[in-house]
Amino acid sequence: MRALGLYIHIPFCQSKCRYCDFYSLPHRQACKIHDYVSVICSHMEKEASLYRDCIIDSIFIGGGTPSLVEAHDFERLCDTIRRCFNVSCGVEFSLEANPDSINREKLLAYKKCGVNRLSIGMQSALDSELRCLGRIHTLEMLEKSYFLARECGFDNINLDIMYALPNQSLDAFLKTIERVIELNPEHISAYCLKIEDGTPFSKMELDLPNEDIQYDMYMTLCERLEALGYEHYEISNFAKNAHRCAHNLKYWRQMEYIGFGPASHSFFDGVRYYYDSDLELYTRDLELGAPKRLFEDSPQMSEDEMMDEYVMLALRLGDGISEREFFNRFKKDFKSEYDIEKFVKSGHMVAQNGIYRFSNKGFFVSNFILENILKSI
Ligand code: SF4
Repeated sequence: MRALGLYIHIPFCQSKCRYCDFYSLPHRQACKIHDYVSVICSHMEKEASLYRDCIIDSIFIGGGTPSLVEAHDFERLCDTIRRCFNVSCGVEFSLEANPDSINREKLLAYKKCGVNRLSIGMQSALDSELRCLGRIHTLEMLEKSYFLARECGFDNINLDIMYALPNQSLDAFLKTIERVIELNPEHISAYCLKIEDGTPFSKMELDLPNEDIQYDMYMTLCERLEALGYEHYEISNFAKNAHRCAHNLKYWRQMEYIGFGPASHSFFDGVRYYYDSDLELYTRDLELGAPKRLFEDSPQMSEDEMMDEYVMLALRLGDGISEREFFNRFKKDFKSEYDIEKFVKSGHMVAQNGIYRFSNKGFFVSNFILENILKSI
């Protein structure tokens, strides 16, 4: 059977963080989320027959803040998923949660529904930094929800952290690194703050760490986590004891996944599409038949574009690119197509047994290197 990832977007947040440009609406009434779950269930029911020959081996409920969904609505959502699709018994089932909306009742409902991976937004160990980001939780709330999740039996937890925050020094970031290490999650995602257009941060005068400090932060993070046995398997992701996120690996390995909800993306039958970031439009279109699919690429990608996409995604991963696999896929020699030797010489890439991958130093400037080597940009 054809393996497929399933993504469901929950576009509600208690309040908007100052740096965030994800599609999420302020959560004011519980009934809105209840109605939204009904909309998603109805969309899955309408499309289920398209995926009869597939087996769902990863589910990711993301947002927004999925932990805002009440326990009974969450159970309804999961019942519908299992009724509509063939779900593998070994499915990786991830859910994003924020410390302000987790409680024991919800955690037990997640367990009952088969959620086996929690991703909790920590972001920083300093309350002053959390306030600056517009987060509505404190470190204490994060720790309480983390330990509650452990008590409820979750043995695969990711903590999200951020660096290069306004006024952040290397020492301050070290406090977050050390605290996250003490908590000992199976997985850590660490993102560099990017100032996105249209966010409150984009309209503020911010004192951000310069590139040298950002570099020190990234290198310190990588060295510290790798020394403790975390596998640095993607630019921003670290996993212990084989706890890589199978769902996210699908995006980076060009495997198939389907998304439900406004702003969700899909890749199925060689076609990439997404739904507009507009809940009202999504709901209205669904009532009339189906939400309109929007397409990311021209339906016919050129060979250079396909190779570039492969290279760009594969180099995000610590596994890198195998010359042999590249040849099997495109019938071309990787080194003749891409001018990477200079980056091997400069120490930004490592070449070993026909595998090319970024070093940590290379990961840090990967956007610049990719711009330099890709053909179609
Ligand atoms: S909780 Fe997450 S999705 Fe919601 S506003 Fe903050 S960063 Fe964005």
